[in-house]
Amino acid sequence: MAVNADYVWMDGEIVPWADARIHVASDALLRGANVFEGERAYWSEPHQQLYMFRHAEHMHRLRQSARVMRMSIPYTDEEITEGCIELLRRNGWRDSVHFRPVVYFGEGEGHAYLPEDIRTGVFVLALHRPSKPTLFTGIRSCVSTWRRNPDAASPSRVKAAANYHNARLAQVEASMNGFGTPIMLNIAGKVSESPGSCFMMVRGGTVITPPVTADILESITRETLIQLMRDELRLTVVERDIDRSELYICDEAWFCGSGHEVQPIIEIDHYPLGDGKPGPIGKAVQSLYFEVVRGQHEQYRHWLTPVYPAAKSAA
Ligand code: PMP
Repeated sequence: MAVNADYVWMDGEIVPWADARIHVASDALLRGANVFEGERAYWSEPHQQLYMFRHAEHMHRLRQSARVMRMSIPYTDEEITEGCIELLRRNGWRDSVHFRPVVYFGEGEGHAYLPEDIRTGVFVLALHRPSKPTLFTGIRSCVSTWRRNPDAASPSRVKAAANYHNARLAQVEASMNGFGTPIMLNIAGKVSESPGSCFMMVRGGTVITPPVTADILESITRETLIQLMRDELRLTVVERDIDRSELYICDEAWFCGSGHEVQPIIEIDHYPLGDGKPGPIGKAVQSLYFEVVRGQHEQYRHWLTPVYPAAKSAA
């Protein structure tokens, strides 16, 4: 299957992939000025349906990111949602899809800089994205030498493209050193998150994850897993600062995010975790997550937005 989509939703219209262009004078290009969401839609074979996962929560976070940037989004949530649905339908997917609604500052006159002087545009980009095989084998991680953006400079809570310059430095360094996804510490030296996902670890049966004030993105997957772990798996979950040295003595760890899903970590800075394989708690969390996103748990169906018309759904 082709990786690129046939179509893109751009400022209210579905356009062919090749025609989805913006001007080189756009602030999104010159200064990385955009905010966006990274969402997934999952195919359910029994329901013959593609479900967007927690789309309303993504729309809410997109508005929060835009608010901090003083961007006003020229479309309603309903219009963007319709755009996402139409785009996924037109591309005809029946598999895992990753899609990004993006709100960007376009071009203004001359050296225009303030939000009111620049055009604000929206597009939705979608790509076929199956789960990675490493979800089942685990990855080797490291602590990055780069620190996560502090809230006082470039808030990680805002899902802004510019924050991903910081993420890129960390990911490229880790890859060049032969590791998978790295763990970033914040300026205070506490564990923050990865370049594109949040971090969770297990010590003595308790799941521990950094608080939302640790310079992390307020991850929707993190919140989903905390709820599922407490309510369904009856696990104790604690949100607190994590020291670097705890990484080397924890029993299990994983990254979580819409794109990364639930990615087990089997080694950090060459310290094997547990028996060096994905651990039992992480595996249980991962299986439950995959069941929920595919509509196998009735009580969480309100988190799913069907993409195809109801006639194609068994629900
Ligand atoms: N942190 C960062 C930096 C991310 O880019 C992402 C992916 N959006 C996450 C965490 C996970 O967030 P979510 O679960 O909402 O996808």
